[in-house]
Amino acid sequence: MRLGGRIADLIEAQGPMSVAQFMTIALLDPQDGYYATRDPFGAGGDFTTAPEISQMFGEMVGLWLVQAWADQGCPKNSRLVELGPGRGTLMADILRAAAVAPEFLADLEVVLVEASPVLQQMQAEKLRGSGADISWQNQFDDSLGDRPLFLVANEFFDALPVRQYVKTPRGWCERMVTVLDGELAFALAPVPAHKTLVPADREAAPEGGVYETSPAAIALCETIARIVAARGGAALMIDYGYSAVTGFAETLQAVGGHQFAEVLAEPGEDDLSAHVDFAALAAAGKRGGANVCGPVTQGMFLATIGIVERAEQLMKSHPAEAESLLAATGRLIGGDQMGTLFKALAFVPPSVGDVAGFAP
Ligand code: SAH
Repeated sequence: MRLGGRIADLIEAQGPMSVAQFMTIALLDPQDGYYATRDPFGAGGDFTTAPEISQMFGEMVGLWLVQAWADQGCPKNSRLVELGPGRGTLMADILRAAAVAPEFLADLEVVLVEASPVLQQMQAEKLRGSGADISWQNQFDDSLGDRPLFLVANEFFDALPVRQYVKTPRGWCERMVTVLDGELAFALAPVPAHKTLVPADREAAPEGGVYETSPAAIALCETIARIVAARGGAALMIDYGYSAVTGFAETLQAVGGHQFAEVLAEPGEDDLSAHVDFAALAAAGKRGGANVCGPVTQGMFLATIGIVERAEQLMKSHPAEAESLLAATGRLIGGDQMGTLFKALAFVPPSVGDVAGFAP
């Protein structure tokens, strides 16, 4: 447990750290962080994501982007940004599908925002033959604010660090990571957080109830919305999460080898993620001045933009794969699979009305 030891040393030196700081180090430490050191996707990895299930996912997203671009009068010099591109599969499928609009691709600048050097490498190999003009950045920043912005993020926001506050008789106290008997352990900050930090709708929480929030995700969404509203473009965020407050339980979880694990047990070895608070991201999008569409369920989004028709078309041209195409479609849109737990949220400029996939 090399990284756990280093985190413990840091806590001995500086005092307890927030859950968000722990999450950041566990996922992104350049030497031993979870994403910085491995390829976590697919059957042999820790989890499987929608683009790894079927090429249809990326194709539908690609066509959605082209439609949004066409709806806005085909702006020239657009930029296509993906946050957290994983193996590069989603971007490869988007670019292939977007070939239906050669003018979209002609002067498109593609930027992949990826913190992990291992995954940057893998993305470069995957996209080598794509013909696109691609560059990488470790973080989303203001340099991406000078052109129409078409942005996608699949299972990115769930990896952003969350802070947790626990309801106690003395108020909401931040949950911290400390060291007890030589082991990492959770503890509550002795002084309650200022009450403006916790939204009023959480006041009904029982003692021990948790308010979880990702300031990083909220700030990033506001920035993206501001750019889309000012320059044009469209942002599509897909992730697992909730549209409204449903309870007061924490959602931070650790997963290793497709199994749940203890959050503090093996930092750097297990994936850490939290359910995305879509209401908070939608509110950030509105503050940024965008027309906010959704959240709607992934099942509704994909079905409305035609994934079933696409599956039928592929089944005709590849009859041998009919069964696996049917299974993949079910996994992506089925209510008992990814269809309901996963949500889609979009930001477009305020001048743009109905957006495909989000109409009531
Ligand atoms: N979108 C991909 C991968 C999702 S996993 C898919 O659907 O398969 C999360 C991705 O976000 C990984 O590529 C990870 O390295 C990257 N990532 C996580 N936190 C990040 C951060 N703070 N900044 C940049 N990239 C990050």
